[in-house]
Amino acid sequence: MTTKALFRDDFYLATAEGTVTAIHPDGAIELDQTCFYATSGGQPGDTGFLERADGSRIQLGQTRHGETKDIILHVPLEEQPRPEVGETLVLHVDWARRYKLMRMHTACHLLSVVCEYPITGAAVGEEESRVDFDMSETIDKDEITARLMTLVTENHPVFTRWITDDELLANPGIVKSKNVRPPVGLGRVSLICIGKDSSVDSQPCGGTHVSETQEVGAIHIAKIEKKGKENRRFRIRFGVPEQSA
Ligand SMILES: [Zn+2]
Repeated sequence: MTTKALFRDDFYLATAEGTVTAIHPDGAIELDQTCFYATSGGQPGDTGFLERADGSRIQLGQTRHGETKDIILHVPLEEQPRPEVGETLVLHVDWARRYKLMRMHTACHLLSVVCEYPITGAAVGEEESRVDFDMSETIDKDEITARLMTLVTENHPVFTRWITDDELLANPGIVKSKNVRPPVGLGRVSLICIGKDSSVDSQPCGGTHVSETQEVGAIHIAKIEKKGKENRRFRIRFGVPEQSA
């Protein structure tokens, strides 16, 4: 059975109800629908807890995909109670953590606007994110920070536009990732658009994002590392740069 991914239509959905459809041999819980994001595209899966009818909790250590991308598995921490198939649970995402991931993930998109090179890898984290670019130039990190913060304070809208797989394949230019496959295969692809009429950016992405750039808040480039001759790793952190803090 597939899991209805409620977060796709509402990135801000922190709680929802779901019914257990299967318990996997390793204890992973499959539900008919969920607001828990499963690890993919460089964004870690959600943590949080599932609340049973008697108010007791099943604490989750991670959320990941099953055999296919349309199955989402909720993985309990050790020694948690095991629900029954057919049981309805109230799902509570650790919202403080997820919101940080949404802010960071959106910041990674802004970095790809400021730094116009092909992306070779990315990992979103609660405290720090990294984006790798195929580039050999040396760039001043404070200048990149200043340009990022301009996009943040200009407060551009961030929204999703759905296109078909065929539309995406007909317009390969909109994909910035060099060796990360765009999320095709489900018939439709979400384009994350920034700015009125996508004037700032649009990029296929299956992750969760904030709805306006101001929500990203203060961020800065903490470090730019040289990873090989033609690869630069940018590390994004929250807050203002240390020397001006
Ligand atoms: Zn994204």
